[in-house]
Amino acid sequence: MATNLLGLDAQGMERFFAGLGEKPFRARQVLKWIHRRGAAGFGEMTDIARELRAKLAASAAIEPPAVAGDSSSADGTRKWLLKVDGANAVEAVFIPEEGRGTLCVSSQAGCTLDCAFCSTGKQGFNRNLSAAEIVGQLWLANRALGVHGRAGAVGAGNRAISNVVFMGMGEPTMNLDAVIPAARLMIDENGYGLSRRRVTVSTSGVVPGMDRLAAECPVALAVSLHAPDDALRDRLVPVNRKYPIRELLKACNRYLERAPRDFITFEYVMLEGVNDSDAQAMALLGVAARVRCKFNLIPFNPFPDSGFKRSPAERVRRFAEVLQRGGITVTTRKTRGDGIDAACGQLAGEVADRTRRSRTIPIEELRA
Ligand code: SAH
Ligand code: SF4
Repeated sequence: MATNLLGLDAQGMERFFAGLGEKPFRARQVLKWIHRRGAAGFGEMTDIARELRAKLAASAAIEPPAVAGDSSSADGTRKWLLKVDGANAVEAVFIPEEGRGTLCVSSQAGCTLDCAFCSTGKQGFNRNLSAAEIVGQLWLANRALGVHGRAGAVGAGNRAISNVVFMGMGEPTMNLDAVIPAARLMIDENGYGLSRRRVTVSTSGVVPGMDRLAAECPVALAVSLHAPDDALRDRLVPVNRKYPIRELLKACNRYLERAPRDFITFEYVMLEGVNDSDAQAMALLGVAARVRCKFNLIPFNPFPDSGFKRSPAERVRRFAEVLQRGGITVTTRKTRGDGIDAACGQLAGEVADRTRRSRTIPIEELRA
């Protein structure tokens, strides 16, 4: 079967070329063609000898996921539905902002971790995406956004996408075999050339995965905290039962040893009457004192039958104020992609659930 070169990082590509009896610099050349220039076929690779191109065509391919949907919102947000196999599709979202453009990518078809307020979690899980399926989202978005002019190469500087966040479907630290090569391609100067701090992995707090990411590819890290104490976090983010807040904070500090001058971004979804009181904000100050961090408040994005409500804007503002008075840098995420269900936690794609998940936590219990 042909090897899909889209998912090979520098090392993988060199290994593949060594297998063909070719020099490492050929691997770099092809990597540049695919990711910097967005080449979709070997025929385009004009500075590569015809003979090698033929050899590549026989043993390799450049295969992105198939685009099954492409919708835009009035605010410029754009969402692609990408078919990754006969039964599953994932979503990627481009969010343009003043001075930057962020692509939100998916790492799994579904998610095993079942957070109470997340539509991906409620869908169950089918499988991990491959590195090609993950980096393929960036490859496709770059092409769709029209910056790979057929006329020639473009550098990272004039691309629409300046940042990538692993905040789409799935838990990236549960799929590091694919996420790490994909992230490496994103920061490789022959690949997408993004700075390490402009690629953010978001995790619900899978401690061993955080440690591995720190060791192998310490890009920026966001941690989905969502509660100031274990009692509530156990219910909102069930993986907390395995890795409680104490262990999570230790892992954050180990991560920062590998990523000096960085900080952890704590994400905090604002759920009315569940985790949005002043007392809970005060309690968060205790957590924040233990890690170099910033907070990003995310107004809850509703989806059918979620059972939760978004905290009113005034409540979010007050909550932020308590944190800020405590000396914490806080940002509140603007809701983007209205009308196309492209906001955080609304990505659903199509997942052929293999977990037969039945929702477990009654909503009354969460409100207690
Ligand atoms: N699995 C990873 C990354 C994907 S989710 C993680 O949990 O961090 C990206 C972010 O969206 C997380 O902070 C997640 O908690 C948040 N999120 C999930 N559902 C949401 C919803 N309905 N509204 C707002 N944010 C949500
Ligand atoms: Fe999975 Fe993240 Fe959704 Fe939790 S919030 S279910 S970890 S995708």
